[in-house]
Amino acid sequence: MRPTRDELIASDKRRVWHPYTEMGDYIAQGDPLVIGRAEGSRLFDVDGRAYLDANSSWWVATLGHNHPRLVAALKRQADQLCHCSLAGIIHPEAARLAEELCEIAPQGLERVFYSDNGSTAVEVAVKLAVQFAAQNGAPRRKRFVALEGAFHGETVGATSLGGVEVFRRPFAGILFDCVHVPLAPEGDGHRRAFEDLTNAVASAPDEIAAVVLEPRLQGAGGMRIYDDELLRRARALCDAHDIPLVFDEVFTGYGRTGAMWACEAAGVQPDLLCLAKGFSGGMLPMAATLATDRIFRGFIGDRSRAFHYGHTYCGNPLGAAVAREVLKVYRDENILEQARLKGEVIARAFSALGALPRVMNPRALGMVGAIDLEEPKGTAGYLGTAGWRVYDAARRRGVYLRPLGNVVYVAPPLNIPDADLEELLGKVREAIDEVVRG
Ligand SMILES: *Cc1c(COP(=O)(O)O)cnc(C)c1O
Repeated sequence: MRPTRDELIASDKRRVWHPYTEMGDYIAQGDPLVIGRAEGSRLFDVDGRAYLDANSSWWVATLGHNHPRLVAALKRQADQLCHCSLAGIIHPEAARLAEELCEIAPQGLERVFYSDNGSTAVEVAVKLAVQFAAQNGAPRRKRFVALEGAFHGETVGATSLGGVEVFRRPFAGILFDCVHVPLAPEGDGHRRAFEDLTNAVASAPDEIAAVVLEPRLQGAGGMRIYDDELLRRARALCDAHDIPLVFDEVFTGYGRTGAMWACEAAGVQPDLLCLAKGFSGGMLPMAATLATDRIFRGFIGDRSRAFHYGHTYCGNPLGAAVAREVLKVYRDENILEQARLKGEVIARAFSALGALPRVMNPRALGMVGAIDLEEPKGTAGYLGTAGWRVYDAARRRGVYLRPLGNVVYVAPPLNIPDADLEELLGKVREAIDEVVRG
């Protein structure tokens, strides 16, 4: 007999420790969705109830859930080879995926280092930058520069780069040195951010290992969209001081903001590019850090110069096979062109939300739309609760939202059918309306 929803929740509350969750409250009154399957833009709970997935299940299912071609690619590969290491070994999928990635990557990125999630893709970039400097004549370069509001993942290295206080606070004593430049995304906030960036770099240019940015859109920090002029200026600044520029496109990559890579729209190429999330279309944990030939060559020589780093599952054949199929589906189904039109629909719907009371800063970029909800003083930001009231109201309407504190956003699959998108946007509006008038 299949376990019932109640039995599953009982096991969950007895044994599972959930991410980003105060577990006492969760065990006392948490009412989780219990998902049994998914298809396209919908999750289905074990009792068959459907939920539109407004956030592509933490931003990964860019092609919708269980895309038949991705599932087929996974099954084909599972029959051949599920895993082997990359230690003195290569397999067809990792080799060909690397070629295919470099073909479409921003110009100048020529090498692919595989890992298994967004945080490790960033961790790889951090270590590459430090070791590159250390063994190429700049051993004092050990500090990083990033932006306030940035999110780069959860390993200690990635947390050090992050500029969201709640994620940093418990670990403050063990994080490495990173200067966080304030960024007000609105208006000409990017100009001031650039001045502060310039000052941060100029104060000790030969101590900075890298500048790390989420191009155009800070995701987990609250869907903050900023002017891409900042990226062009950061590029010039890094060039002037010979500092590697790292773009973390774990969220913005794979067409989320419009172009395949957000940095393309700004016309800027990084020295290191971190990819995950859409990389395997939400099928498997898989990631990569792409590097320029110059950085790659900085590790050539005797063995001590090698990058002594790797993860057990790096280049996993199942993940690589699916990641290749993801790129083919983007091509064959004109995903970016589809998303361009859908993005316009999101932008219109979110702009109209601005007319509701207590709704602030309606904004949209590509396949992301967001608003801030006004909160009673002192509770705004990541720990705000208004977003969770919208979550409840949306859930009753068959929509799965996950707010970021008082920020309510959608980031649906790039190929969400038009009718589903319309339904999603309509129900999100109803849910917000209910809460702000309530
Ligand atoms: C989600 C995210 C990460 C971390 O990715 P994980 O796969 O969760 O480790 C890093 N950078 C950005 C910009 C992200 O959005």
